[in-house]
Amino acid sequence: MIPFLDLKAQYAAIKPEIDRAVLDVLASGQYVLGDEVARLEQEFADYCETRHAIAVNTGTSALHLALLAAGIGPGDEVITVPLTFVATVSAICYTGARPVFVDVEPVTLTMDPSRIEAVITPRTKAIMPVHLYGQMAEMDAINAIAERHGLAVIEDACQAHGAEYKGRRAGSVGVSGCFSFYPGKNLGACGEGGMVVTSNDEHAKTMRMLRDWGQEQRYHHVMKGFNYRMDGIQGAILRVKLRHLEAWTRARREHAARYSSMFAGSTAVRPLVEQADRRHVYHIYAVRCRDRAAVQRSLQADGIQFGLHYPIPAHLQKAHADLGHRVGDFPVSEAAAHEMLSLPMYPELSAKAIARVVSAVEQDAYVG
Ligand SMILES: *Cc1c(COP(=O)(O)O)cnc(C)c1O
Repeated sequence: MIPFLDLKAQYAAIKPEIDRAVLDVLASGQYVLGDEVARLEQEFADYCETRHAIAVNTGTSALHLALLAAGIGPGDEVITVPLTFVATVSAICYTGARPVFVDVEPVTLTMDPSRIEAVITPRTKAIMPVHLYGQMAEMDAINAIAERHGLAVIEDACQAHGAEYKGRRAGSVGVSGCFSFYPGKNLGACGEGGMVVTSNDEHAKTMRMLRDWGQEQRYHHVMKGFNYRMDGIQGAILRVKLRHLEAWTRARREHAARYSSMFAGSTAVRPLVEQADRRHVYHIYAVRCRDRAAVQRSLQADGIQFGLHYPIPAHLQKAHADLGHRVGDFPVSEAAAHEMLSLPMYPELSAKAIARVVSAVEQDAYVG
């Protein structure tokens, strides 16, 4: 069996460091926020090249706080994409704002900047691009439009720790950037976790208060806040893992290059290509299939796990029926939902496993 990702292999590789960090927190008594979380914030801000980082309990909370700090609320509209995890859209709904979709472009499956201006209204307040699979969206074009219309750009960087666009780190290109530390993400906690990064001092101050009950000081609640705090144990674990993130990213990029060179000329699948001005961190290695059902069958027959990201675009989810969309509204996202398939990808993946995956995928080219 080749798994889609292997969290146990990662733990085994760094077990002594993780165990030490956890035991130290247990002894410290700092179970919520505390010194380890504060150090993680500084180190993650440095990693993202921003002035501030605010640790929270999930990536979804990070998105919610970033929107609130940008002043988004009921009656506002936030532009995002339908080809994403549901949390992007849910976070917009939490604020009372309305998600407004624009389609993705076919090469990177990230927000198509040429479609943004057509959906801007007097109620539009922000644009939330998603750095899908670990590759950043076309940020210069998105920022230029945002600037022209006075909109905030909030990056959903939940899949893009350490990704770059023209040499700039994910999270540092918009007014703020949101990360998830869900276990399967490129930097993953042993539980839930998230982070917002920003270089805007005002936004940072607001988010710091909002994550901890809107307190300016203990029991002085200056705004209606939330309990979005990060656990001390997760902070300590994430500090250990952050030290390994660059090496893990290099390994992911090598695996992706190996897959892509082996798929060159394939009639079964076409890999998504890395853009010349970007550093893709391959949270997900996705291919476009000629006949996805056939590829799924041969992978299953060979005991190879895979994922679909995402089989139903957000505008066609039952949960968002109130937005009134129907099939055909966002054809590029809808085609991706039918054609894209995600292959095993994690730093510990072996060359031998990659070869097995490729041969299973290619089998379909002759069978079908
Ligand atoms: C994982 C993810 C989130 C949500 O993160 P959680 O930590 O699970 O709340 C949001 N957006 C995208 C694109 C994601 O992949």
